[in-house]
Amino acid sequence: MELTEYNRDQLEALLMVQRRLRGLPASDLAELKAIIRPYLRFRAEVGAFQGIHLSEVCTEKCFADCTSACCGKEGIATFFADVVINSLLSSDEEIDSLLRVLSGDQAGFKCIYLGRNGCLWRLKPIVCEMFLCDHAKESLHLRGEEILRQWENLRVREKAFTWPDRPVLFDDLEEQFIKAGLESPLMYFHRSPGLLRVKARAVSKPIHKSCGRD
Ligand code: SF4
Ligand code: SF4
Repeated sequence: MELTEYNRDQLEALLMVQRRLRGLPASDLAELKAIIRPYLRFRAEVGAFQGIHLSEVCTEKCFADCTSACCGKEGIATFFADVVINSLLSSDEEIDSLLRVLSGDQAGFKCIYLGRNGCLWRLKPIVCEMFLCDHAKESLHLRGEEILRQWENLRVREKAFTWPDRPVLFDDLEEQFIKAGLESPLMYFHRSPGLLRVKARAVSKPIHKSCGRD
């Protein structure tokens, strides 16, 4: 069966990451797990926020009938670092289930990773985690200024991992794999013109050391 370009890129990235991680010495693996720890703490906070303030909304609107409007076919950009982080956290069975769906039936209208019990990723891609539809945004508005402020604060903190106007985890992880001779269309931090521009501007406009301002 011929894979769609999207599925092929995802599959190749996952296989590549698996091969690389399996070949690493235990000390390098431990180091990788250590550098993603602050990000995992951040994700736990986002998950807790969503559990309190959004799970009811999403369950009622989307998950009760497995339609999850967030999860359209080929609708999300997964970063290479998402694949690395998820691989570091996943069991062999969880990776196998991702490989299975990526190589299987391509015909559905939903994201290839949407299973019977929700997303098949152990730690879903950051784009999915931070996405709120208008309905979900509205429900946060109804909860008041303080809750909205907390959500905005999480969005700002996300940038410390994913917005390359400074050294960020998602760029660093790609860099490590590129230095090992690997290449993937999912390496947006090294391929996306928009992100490359952000990085170039940051280099030409260094942050003032003492006060963090231009
Ligand atoms: S964010 Fe919106 S579209 Fe996504 S699951 Fe929640 S309610 Fe559904
Ligand atoms: S990766 Fe998971 S959360 Fe993201 S769109 Fe697909 S099924 Fe939904």
